[in-house]
Formats: sequence, C-alpha cells, structure tokens
Amino acid sequence: MNPPADPLARIARWLRETDGLIVAAGAGMGVDSGLPDFRGPEGFWRAYPALGRAHVRFEEIANPAAFERDPALAWGFYGHRLALYRRTVPHRGFALLQEIAAGLRGGAFVFTSNVDGQFQKAGFADARIMEVHGSIHHLQCQRGCRGAVWCAEGFEPQVDEEACRLLGEPPRCPHCGGVARPNILMFGDWAWIPRRTEAQEAGLVAWLEHVRRPVVIELGAGENVPTVRRFAESIGGRLVRINPQAEPMLPAGAIHLRCGALEGIATVHAALVRHR
Ligand SMILES: [Zn+2]
Repeated sequence: MNPPADPLARIARWLRETDGLIVAAGAGMGVDSGLPDFRGPEGFWRAYPALGRAHVRFEEIANPAAFERDPALAWGFYGHRLALYRRTVPHRGFALLQEIAAGLRGGAFVFTSNVDGQFQKAGFADARIMEVHGSIHHLQCQRGCRGAVWCAEGFEPQVDEEACRLLGEPPRCPHCGGVARPNILMFGDWAWIPRRTEAQEAGLVAWLEHVRRPVVIELGAGENVPTVRRFAESIGGRLVRINPQAEPMLPAGAIHLRCGALEGIATVHAALVRHR
C-alpha cells in the first residue's frame, strides 16, 4: 500500500518532471514586497486617505471616466502608484522562482494580472511575461489615438499625497495633445488598447506549444477578479495554488499551500532542494 504522498514531496516530483514552469500571479504576489492590498474599500482608503475622505472607491478612480472628469486626481492616484512601483524592490520570492525554473528546458513563463512591472524588475525576460491587464509603465491616449502605446519612461510624476493630486502637467498624447493615461485595463473601459497584451499572449501560446508537462504555480490570485485563477486552471497541468484563503473548491489533483506568496515559494524551493 502506498502511503498518501506528502504534498511537498509531490510538488518536488512535479518540478523534477516538468519542462516548463508557469507562474500565475495576482495581487497577493506584491504584498510581501510591501505593496498595498486594495481588497475592500478599507484597505484601499487606508492606502489613499484623500480618496477615502472623498468616498471615491477603487472602481471609480481606476476608471477612464476619472481621467475625463478630473485628470489631476486620476493621475494623483496612478502617478503615486507609478512612482511606488518604480522604487519597490521585488521580494526574494521572485529570485527563488527563477532558481526553480533555471534548470527547466522551457524555463518559466509569467501570466499576471498585476500592472506593477515587478517581474521585469526582478529580471524575468519581457518576452516571457503576459500582463493580462496591461502595465502602468506604458501609456496610451484616452481617445486611443492610432492605437499607440508608449513607454512611461521620462514621466516623473510629482504627487501631493495628502490631496492625491498630480502637481504639474499630466503626460500628453503625441498625436492629439490630449491627456494620456496608463495602458491598464480599467473598470468600464472601452478604450484600453490591448496591443501589448495581445503580443504577449501570442508569445505565451507559442511557448506552451513546446511545453509537454507544465507545472503552474499560482500566487495570491483572488476570486473577485478570477482571471488568473481561470487561466491557471485552464492549463490542465499540475497546479500548486499558494493563497492564504481557505480553498473549498480546489480543482481535483491540485495542491493548496495556505500561506502568502513569499512563504509559499520559499517552501516549494526548499522542498525541491530537499527532494533533489
Ligand atoms: Zn490622442
């Protein structure tokens, strides 16, 4: 009789047998780097007290209508985030993931709903990342002029954090001179230009064609915006779900590590070393 396998030994075996690692990351991935968690209005308003005082919810400010109504306020929010993500140092879990993937024939591919650019910052190749909701490090015209998307480099937002307002001029569209916005898929957003994300998706599809036995490590992906979870489950590979929440609906065969992203990655990394 075989004893029920220790889940960590099983994960280690999966990683020894795989030829490609898929990292599927949601908002929980950034928490260990010190990034704020916007879950629920309380968490969001704690991070942006000026929006709390004005009772502006996340869904209202992360909205193209906010850029129409009050670009200085919308850019107060996004400018603060852009500066924050630029100075954030990705936690150690990013490097551990790279170590886990280093010996694999196909390496790793990242699928993330995060717009913070932390995987690139941690050294993951641009060509191996799909940012399904876009990136704050890229801009586009509010009106979507010519389908253009350009890098936010050179735009250094100065923000009055007390009032959540951009000081100085917002970035402008080079074609029409109108206010530019982040190339992020927002709420009620019909003007988002998906060009970058579509090119990244083509890269992912091509990569997947050459990977026979993918392992998916899903990190901090919630149920409210289930894009990352759905993707992770759609692969049909071996799935490790790392999430501090309870998991009553865990897909058959998947393994749940109930903890934060960094702790979960470190646990998987240690198991791989121990069972090598
Ligand atoms: Zn324009």
